[in-house]
Amino acid sequence: CGVFGIYGPGLDVARLTFYGLYALQHRGQESAGMAVADGWRIELHKGMGLIPEVFNDRVINDLRGHLAIGHVRYSTTGASHPINAQPLVFHYGRGQIGLAHNGNLTNTESLRRQLAAEGAVFQTTTDSEVIVNLIARSGGRDLEEALAHCVREIRGAYSLVILAENQLLAVRDPYGFRPLCLGELGNAVVVASESCALDTIGARFLRDVAPGEIVVLDRNGMNSIQVARREHWAHCVFEYIYFARADSCIDGFNVNRVRRKLGEQLARECPADADIVLPVPDSGTPAARGYADGSGIPLEEGLMKNRYIGRTFIQPSQNQRELGVRLKLNPIREVLAGKRVVLVDDSLVRGTTSGKIVRLLREAGAREIHLRLSSPPITHPCYYGIDTSNRKELIAAEKEVEEIREFTGADTLAYLSLEGLLGAFGDYGRNFCTACFDGRYPVPVDGGGSCAVFK
Ligand code: 5GP
Ligand code: SF4
Ligand code: MG
Repeated sequence: CGVFGIYGPGLDVARLTFYGLYALQHRGQESAGMAVADGWRIELHKGMGLIPEVFNDRVINDLRGHLAIGHVRYSTTGASHPINAQPLVFHYGRGQIGLAHNGNLTNTESLRRQLAAEGAVFQTTTDSEVIVNLIARSGGRDLEEALAHCVREIRGAYSLVILAENQLLAVRDPYGFRPLCLGELGNAVVVASESCALDTIGARFLRDVAPGEIVVLDRNGMNSIQVARREHWAHCVFEYIYFARADSCIDGFNVNRVRRKLGEQLARECPADADIVLPVPDSGTPAARGYADGSGIPLEEGLMKNRYIGRTFIQPSQNQRELGVRLKLNPIREVLAGKRVVLVDDSLVRGTTSGKIVRLLREAGAREIHLRLSSPPITHPCYYGIDTSNRKELIAAEKEVEEIREFTGADTLAYLSLEGLLGAFGDYGRNFCTACFDGRYPVPVDGGGSCAVFK
């Protein structure tokens, strides 16, 4: 998911939120929404689909106010339903509250049970509603205190933006799993999942929200409360490998730069005797460029991508996904015929896409196909908000590299090492979650790992 927020007196905050969410569309295509406050009340608009399907000029013009939050959602387990679209907006003791969440809590079940026993009622199946309930029920002088209290109860991954009638709060979990950054636009302050959203609306990047930090924006300006401190963090390394946009900078590292480094390292670790380096667009492109730089083998664009098709992975059923690959990619015969190809992609999850692509390349006349992945084998599910939820679907959880090679039909297959991956960050490498590659979960998971709803 992606979140966005703006505190901007005098600005058309609904329109700016619309543009900001557009820049975060890659983080979720299932539903979108925004909540706008004018000092007195909060208005909400949300729906299923892409940003331009959910919003139009009339809707944006009707959303008036000076502060807003927004959300784009992607879920993995069936709960693709309008009721789970965000932001969530509720009435409670202090007035109204809106919330948008990126991440996934790991103690939802026990919190939900506890809240239900105290008489709480739930409308959705999301962990985000649990957060709203905790905030609403916590004593505390003000919303900051209520939120600080809530942070002590919830576990797992969360980057949140929270809206009251006259105040906007942002918080990032103490491990810093999901990204969250701050920017300024004149006198306005903007918060977003990724810096590409700040660039898009012409805001200047200020800094990342620190893990365990609550940022409060209201008529008194910007205030920060550090509610939790840790020695090391657990940023999601998969944001750099695949999820985030290449033009974003997260926690001090430009995503494109990291991807190129991973490609260079991959060329060092897993060389191949070949004529051309071929990226799997778009997510594999920076790594392929890095591989070409590192190996001296020329980069060629030999897979044409239909840019009007979204991320194929995100469609719920396997059937739709398989059709998706053909809709999305077509090989360029002239580039491929008779060539020995190093095919570079960022990751291999189920192996379905890669297998399809290998077949397409062979049909287009490629002589040899050497598949190279700029991340290690994904052997464990993610419980912190990335869609690798079902362990049975992770091909590397069940199969050895040689079996995976056979499944994809490539002539050779090799993955980047975990050391090689973390090496791209230098000394900072110890601050990353790598659980999907090594099973070392930084935060324990309720029930030992049955996953509820992922965003
Ligand atoms: P596979 O060959 O495993 O079926 O698919 C690999 C492709 O899926 C890669 O090109 C990679 O960019 C993409 N991918 C990896 N993780 C995700 C994810 O969480 N969501 C989406 N939409 N695509 C992903
Ligand atoms: Fe990211 Fe993998 Fe950790 Fe999930 S398990 S937060 S995808 S690094
Ligand atoms: Mg891809």
